Amino acid sequence: MSTMHNFCAGPCLLPDEVYQGAAEAVLNFNNTGLSILSISHRSKEFIAILEEVQHLALSLLGLEHKGYTALFLQGGASMEFLRIPYNLMKSRAGYINTGNWSSKAIEQAKLFGQVEIIASSEDRNYTYIPDSIIVPTGLDYLHFTSNNTIYGTQFHEVPQADCPVVCDMSSDIYSRVYNCEQIDVIYAGAQKNIGPAGLSVVLLKKDVIGKVNRIIPQMMNYTEHIDKGSLYHTANVFAIYTSLLNLRWLEQQGGVAAIEVVNNKKANMLYQAIDELDYIQGFADKTYRSQMNVTFDFKEKEMGHIFDQMCQDANITNIKGHRILGGYRASLYNAVSINSVQTLVEVLQTMKTKI
Ligand SMILES: *Cc1c(COP(=O)(O)O)cnc(C)c1O
Repeated sequence: MSTMHNFCAGPCLLPDEVYQGAAEAVLNFNNTGLSILSISHRSKEFIAILEEVQHLALSLLGLEHKGYTALFLQGGASMEFLRIPYNLMKSRAGYINTGNWSSKAIEQAKLFGQVEIIASSEDRNYTYIPDSIIVPTGLDYLHFTSNNTIYGTQFHEVPQADCPVVCDMSSDIYSRVYNCEQIDVIYAGAQKNIGPAGLSVVLLKKDVIGKVNRIIPQMMNYTEHIDKGSLYHTANVFAIYTSLLNLRWLEQQGGVAAIEVVNNKKANMLYQAIDELDYIQGFADKTYRSQMNVTFDFKEKEMGHIFDQMCQDANITNIKGHRILGGYRASLYNAVSINSVQTLVEVLQTMKTKI
């Protein structure tokens, strides 16, 4: 498993022990003689899994006993682009546009009412995060994307607003200490830092929903999912169990504060190399660089070919940039080891001798 250095942006790398635990559960879950793939989502075994994962999902962010509910639904973050306005938009919502995912969320919200772009970094190809954002009063909610997976930029602070704040935290949830309490609805596609694809995690304050007049189809309705405890229909049992293993692993590492130290170390190593080597160009403005997704390219195109070959020889994989940006992207999610980043840095440095 660990012979490759996998920098995949998503579905992301998970710790070896999570793969191991998930594999064992497929063959014989908790010595029940049954596969995790073939137990009922209403069995007492699965209810225990669900309760523990809901507890960990909140407690790791310091959100337990603060009015939040944790939902484990299907459809990924893209489904939440739709569920958010369905459940929260009366007439007018504010969105901050910091990249492709924000733009997609905006497109969906427009189906439900008036969308105001409160701030945008589109003018400089999403290389930065807008500063000193002033949010008008009277919005139904404010939506932002804490980490821009494709461009490699990241918010340092939670934008301040007098309305509920909603955040797509898909690609930096559980990676750093953040003021999550200032956010009323946090959502994430699980496959970036939580577990396998096919799951969306929604951590929401119950008092922000139930205020719109429209008819909400049951699958789209947060109230329905809360009332049914994420079991309105068949839950994604395997993805939820694997996510539990990963969140347990994170807790054993010392939680979010401890993993943040490691994540910062990894990101600093790589950014330092990018800044020192004059044949490499970082994409994002230095102030707003993401600690999770590091985007860069070579100043000369031919170097890319040399780099591709060297990566292959060094077992480095999934490092190509997103198709809309090009270049390269190293995603440094929680399970990516310092050793993998070290290997990548060495390859980048060795290229000096190949020019
Ligand atoms: C990957 C990603 C998404 C899309 O997630 P899906 O689960 O594929 O729908 C949305 N937002 C951000 C920030 C992402 O990184």
